[in-house]
Amino acid sequence: MKLVTYQSPRGPRAAALLDGRAFDVNHADAGIPACMKQWLAAGPDMLRRTAGAMAGAEPLPGDGLTFLPPVPNPEKIICVGLNYADHAREGGFEPPPEPVIFNKFPSSVVADGQPIVLPSVSQQVDYEAELVVVIGRGGRNIGRSEAFEHVAAYCCGNDVSARDWQLGKAGGQWLLGKTFDTFAPFGPYLVTADEIPNPHTLRIRSRVNGRTMQDSTTAQLLFPVDELIAYVSSVCTLVPGDLLYTGTPPGVGFARDPAVFLQPGDVVEIEIDGLGILRNPVV
Ligand code: MN
Repeated sequence: MKLVTYQSPRGPRAAALLDGRAFDVNHADAGIPACMKQWLAAGPDMLRRTAGAMAGAEPLPGDGLTFLPPVPNPEKIICVGLNYADHAREGGFEPPPEPVIFNKFPSSVVADGQPIVLPSVSQQVDYEAELVVVIGRGGRNIGRSEAFEHVAAYCCGNDVSARDWQLGKAGGQWLLGKTFDTFAPFGPYLVTADEIPNPHTLRIRSRVNGRTMQDSTTAQLLFPVDELIAYVSSVCTLVPGDLLYTGTPPGVGFARDPAVFLQPGDVVEIEIDGLGILRNPVV
């Protein structure tokens, strides 16, 4: 099932997409949460109940709907650096012996179609195509063998990065370079995990103005999804709606010759098998 969040007069509400139309899941069945985090927390039973409720439901009017980031207010956005060996090497790093983790603040999220805003204090803004894992049931010290029971959905993500901050500032500023407002596009919708039986066989691509910049597969991940969940949850409690950006393959802008950085008017697309196309203009 494909899920989105839309803006209603009463606030953000979860909707399911079916044949290009959106259905408010709580209108269809008042026992289904209108809040995406609550929906994600509820597990496979809620997925079955929602699928059943769609049968007799009225779609939302197509005109004038405003979509928000599918999880509008994630508690945590956890990112993995250097998780494809070829990408680590193109940036001058050795593939790391254990996961390299950083984060973005929730203030950086934007939905499909919303602009990536170039900050005046950076001249080196770059794209990164990434598979994003969306946590359903939360937990701490989750074992690898149970990790997928905590995954509710997947989507495309763009780990937008100001390289002059991430790599050029004294001491390195990975957090600040990665967390400017609008630097965490994800979507265009969530795809529930039942539709992605293996997240490690997916073709992943990025395009800037239609030109392919990255083209790889999640089979190349150094640290797979289950290992990442076990690793991060050994440190902090994961909660429903947390996002895990799993790293980017080679072909990013700063490692090219000549380097490519995003410019006003550009359009960036991230496409992953089965997860649609995340498209954001740059302003
Ligand atoms: Mn990244």
